[in-house]
Amino acid sequence: MEKRRFFIDGMVGEEALLTGEEFAHARTVLRLDTGSEVILLDNSGKEYDGIVTSVGKREMRVHVLSVREGEREAATDVKLLFGFLKNADRNEFVVQKATELGVREIGLFSSEYSSAHVSENKLERLRRVAKESAKQCLRSCAPAIEYHPSLQDALHSGMGYANKFFACEFLREKGADLRRIDGSAVLVVGSEGGFTRAEFEGAVSLGYRGVSLGKRILRAETAAVALTAVVMFGAGEWQN
Ligand code: SAH
Repeated sequence: MEKRRFFIDGMVGEEALLTGEEFAHARTVLRLDTGSEVILLDNSGKEYDGIVTSVGKREMRVHVLSVREGEREAATDVKLLFGFLKNADRNEFVVQKATELGVREIGLFSSEYSSAHVSENKLERLRRVAKESAKQCLRSCAPAIEYHPSLQDALHSGMGYANKFFACEFLREKGADLRRIDGSAVLVVGSEGGFTRAEFEGAVSLGYRGVSLGKRILRAETAAVALTAVVMFGAGEWQN
């Protein structure tokens, strides 16, 4: 079995502490104890092999034995921007699948037709989902998750990306070709309410290109996962 993986906040020399939820999970769910071998992740892309050296009531001390670069991160920097959905499970689904597919950053936004209430608690929950998913698929980094109170703000966060794709359900002209993608990419997918024409035009004026996901209207979460998968493929991420 793969060694258990945990996210840590930092390390002092060769010692790291598992605290908070990671500790609770290690101790009460997995029953790890002194001598257990673990892999620690600090979101730098590195992986640290360690061994538990002591267990307290609130923390577990781990001695790091070796360090290496994680090998599972996508070479292509992909950011997913998606409209915050009303249903918490669907937001979690998108975060989980985008993490598995290798997305490096996730931005949630509110827009004209998206009226879900966003709270710090909900964002924290999504960050936990991203971490759990990252561990499960053996990534060494969990995607950062941030919230943009407006679509405009979200679109601006993607300005540095080489390719800017906007999934537009009412696109009339031919959409951008996703079969071959060079360089980084930011992807925009709307919530259940979709986008207004003015929102799409605003995105185009910032350099975003409309993309079509076919003839049918997909649910937001299907669109987000399908577009991410296609972009990863187009960027060559599926050719090991
Ligand atoms: N309420 C809208 C649908 C929104 S679908 C309507 O009734 O028309 C949610 C999001 O998924 C859209 O904003 C878009 O980003 C994406 N999407 C769904 N189907 C799509 C398609 N065929 N082409 C491009 N984007 C699509």
